[in-house]
Amino acid sequence: MINQQHIKFDDEREHKLYEIWPGKNRFYLGGRIMIGPSTDFGPNFFTWGGLILLPIFFTISNGQQIWEANRLLFICTLLLAFLTLFFLFLTQFTDPGIIPRKNIFEIMNIQWETESAWPMCETCQIKKPPGSSHCKQCDNCILMFDHHCPFVNNCIGKRNYKYFALFLASLLMQGLSILISLNKINPEESNGLTDFLLIIVCFISAVIGVFCFFHLIVILSGSTTRQIIKHLEPTNSFDWIGRSQQLFNPTMIIATQQQAFDF
Ligand SMILES: [Zn+2]
Ligand SMILES: [Zn+2]
Repeated sequence: MINQQHIKFDDEREHKLYEIWPGKNRFYLGGRIMIGPSTDFGPNFFTWGGLILLPIFFTISNGQQIWEANRLLFICTLLLAFLTLFFLFLTQFTDPGIIPRKNIFEIMNIQWETESAWPMCETCQIKKPPGSSHCKQCDNCILMFDHHCPFVNNCIGKRNYKYFALFLASLLMQGLSILISLNKINPEESNGLTDFLLIIVCFISAVIGVFCFFHLIVILSGSTTRQIIKHLEPTNSFDWIGRSQQLFNPTMIIATQQQAFDF
């Protein structure tokens, strides 16, 4: 089904591509920052809140004892906490590899090179390269679509998979580092917050450990999460180190006078 959306500008000012974007991604700072749909707010807030509170609880609960027992371990744990938040930021706030819709390519005056065997996306009216898929939550086609993650409020695709994998790896290492640190505490010096932290971090490390193992299989098999779940042939071209060119520029000026668009 084609989502028809009629847009007409009433003023004479310059309009940028992100202002008429037909998908559910949200743009901020004049189109310089892009995130996923607003429906992910709950899980995304939970992720940011939890990952900011984790090192704070760690420092408040037994920071003093751990600092005295092993300063390097304490510094490494906080460094890993910072890295986790940094990779979460990069995963969430970068373009995952959106393929713009046909009308946007036309506005940009760009020819989308395709092959006849590629399947058609009925919403975007473009042919999808192998491994690509239309994300229902974001309402955009994504290059090497892995999955949509509401916890990071973005799709995981060709352009941000590397950041997502590093986010999972640093979160697992942070969890293990906290567990090793808590193990160094004299049981008489532990408190209620120590026990709470121990249970929470054991749970997080187990869950993230499973995800890390799964994504190791994804990387080594050259496929995507979607291909593994749907038993599809792997594309064997998963470029998880490289970072392809962004296919659109949200800050590009598309109208300077009264103009109408149909999407
Ligand atoms: Zn599509
Ligand atoms: Zn998505």
